[in-house]
Amino acid sequence: MVRKTHYRRVVVKVGTSTLTEGELHLCLARMVDLVRQIIQIKASGIQVLLVSSGGIAAGREMMDFPDLPRFLPAKQMLAAIGQPRLMAIYTQLFTLYQGQIAQVLLTRDDLADRRRYLNARNTLEALLEYEVIPIINENDTIATEEIRFGDNDNLSALIANLIEADLLLLLTDQEGVFTANPRLNPDAKLVKRIEGDRIPPEILNAANASTNGLGTGGMASKLSAAELARRSGAAVVVTNGVLDQVIPRVILDQEELGTYFTPQATHLESRKRFLLAGVTESSGRIGIDGGAVVALRGGGSLLPVGITSIHGDFSRGQSVTIIGPSGQAVAVGLSNYSAEDARRIAGLQSSQIEAALGYAYGAEVVHHNNLVCL
Ligand code: GLU
Repeated sequence: MVRKTHYRRVVVKVGTSTLTEGELHLCLARMVDLVRQIIQIKASGIQVLLVSSGGIAAGREMMDFPDLPRFLPAKQMLAAIGQPRLMAIYTQLFTLYQGQIAQVLLTRDDLADRRRYLNARNTLEALLEYEVIPIINENDTIATEEIRFGDNDNLSALIANLIEADLLLLLTDQEGVFTANPRLNPDAKLVKRIEGDRIPPEILNAANASTNGLGTGGMASKLSAAELARRSGAAVVVTNGVLDQVIPRVILDQEELGTYFTPQATHLESRKRFLLAGVTESSGRIGIDGGAVVALRGGGSLLPVGITSIHGDFSRGQSVTIIGPSGQAVAVGLSNYSAEDARRIAGLQSSQIEAALGYAYGAEVVHHNNLVCL
């Protein structure tokens, strides 16, 4: 029953119920403790992204709203008021430990659009490269659907997929996933491990029955997030955010806390699925020379210097097929440049991109992170 033993990149998700400890205001003692734990795992060389709720809770506290308003604009108003407050607290707390943070607000729709997906991914990669801790929340002001608690569970799974995290740690107010609602049924047992292809229906049913209204999405939304994340190659742990040293214990010590879900695919399989799903009859193609074929097969990126021809039309962020000198499809990937730009930089050195276009999205036309060989 060994869990994965080494994590390189993790997404930690904390919900409102953890940040408020079930009360009406943010619990600063809890927050400082979480921040310290995140700094601790980061100091061991693990890249960490934090998906944090609490925007609406902070707004509610500032406006002295005892109840959560029902109307969407009022919730959005509270999120707009509370989000800077939430970030001000995080800034102060991370500064205590010399941690540099960044605010990233996303809507789920952003991640469905390929160009925005690529931009979000590139930004997060840049932040991680510079050792900054991204703190992510849904951009509630422009969320197109009703803000539902639990949305951040789903968002955290999409983030785990976006940056190919190897662990999604969902911190909640229960010890883990149970066979029945533990608040109602004394015989409910903690499920230590879920490894099958599908989450067993009896566990899903028990979770559906346990949703509560107090700032958590309940177990049902944890399970659907876990399902999504494990299909993109991440392991998932659901456990209680108030356990002492919970983050380092799960991530550094691999202690068997809460419920562990095994990943159901490799990152490569999941990336391939995503990239191939974007290839259609009319997708663009990029012709490359023999040297570039060797570079791609060796795990390298596609640089403009290896490009010999551009076929069809595509925009930045679209899936393109990469064709070798004899016309065979060598790889698929997301292009950093539109077809028009790619035509202008084909054959150039990467250092010449900016002079040719007036701007540059990076040295690679297709970065190896966004590419699979066929
Ligand atoms: N984005 C909401 C907030 O910051 C929370 C959504 C959730 O809890 O899933 O208050």
